[in-house]
Amino acid sequence: MVVVSLRIDLHTHSTASDGTDSPTALVGAAADAGLDVLAITDHDTTAGWREASAALPVGMTLVPGAELSCVSDNGRGRPISVHLLAYLFDPDAESVVAEQSRLRAERRSRLRWMAERMAEDGVPIDPDELLGALPADAPAGRPHLARALVDAGLARSVDEAFATYLGSGRGYYVPRGDTPVMRAIDMINDAGGVTVLAHPLAYERGPTVSLSTIAEMAAHGLTGIEVAHPNHDQPTREKLRALADELDLLPTGSSDYHGTNKDIPIGAETTDPDVFVDLVSRASGCEIVAGVAG
Ligand code: AMP
Ligand code: FE
Ligand code: FE
Ligand code: ZN
Repeated sequence: MVVVSLRIDLHTHSTASDGTDSPTALVGAAADAGLDVLAITDHDTTAGWREASAALPVGMTLVPGAELSCVSDNGRGRPISVHLLAYLFDPDAESVVAEQSRLRAERRSRLRWMAERMAEDGVPIDPDELLGALPADAPAGRPHLARALVDAGLARSVDEAFATYLGSGRGYYVPRGDTPVMRAIDMINDAGGVTVLAHPLAYERGPTVSLSTIAEMAAHGLTGIEVAHPNHDQPTREKLRALADELDLLPTGSSDYHGTNKDIPIGAETTDPDVFVDLVSRASGCEIVAGVAG
């Protein structure tokens, strides 16, 4: 019997969001690392799918995905930020398109609100000018306002603009109106995809959900949870694996690669092939992509 062990990384970022590798370079890095299956999961966008698909070498498989920024109850009545990996959904499904346009509008009004509060305080930022200069289809965010502050000579760098004005805890910070996680699970299921809760217990990133909230997500149609992730230590992985067993959730593993923005190499954590096959079998929104590039 020939046993082929597939190497599968289901969570990576490109320059379509906050990674440093272009989608083409991301696929190249995956090939260099000996990966057989790669998911591209940029934050809140599918913009890298096409380029990554075209760059895929023969023998490599791409799983189109995204990492959705969501808000959840933490289980004790407080809203916290959670990340939801979504795979193999139809990006043109009505449920997805409608929520994306709501989020774009929400991001613009939030940025205007921050700029207006600055203007009221005498900071020489013109909200109309800022909004007018935003890219038409990219999501508006604090980096745009930070850049305007640098251009106006109010900060020496984007980092300084965050440290002085825009970081959470700074005077002008306003949280985003992210998608409620239960709504995001519905939206992706409606679009034929599957969802996996990203780094559920990554304590170092901030507050995490309670296990009972994960159980509610499972009852709501969540398909899996990330168990092997660079931010999870061994006891955390064991706890999550037991929870996945108990709730019948698929346990995945991934590097959350961001290029040189983080020091974790691609393929540092991987997903069991049986889990991968099960995940794909539950999705119908779009196809996995087989490599044809020479
Ligand atoms: P937003 O989605 O509008 O809340 O902006 C979040 C983005 O701002 C992140 O994806 C980062 O790219 C960027 N960002 C967050 N904190 C900092 C910081 N301290 N310095 C520079 N960029 C930051
Ligand atoms: Fe990121
Ligand atoms: Fe994340
Ligand atoms: Zn990520």
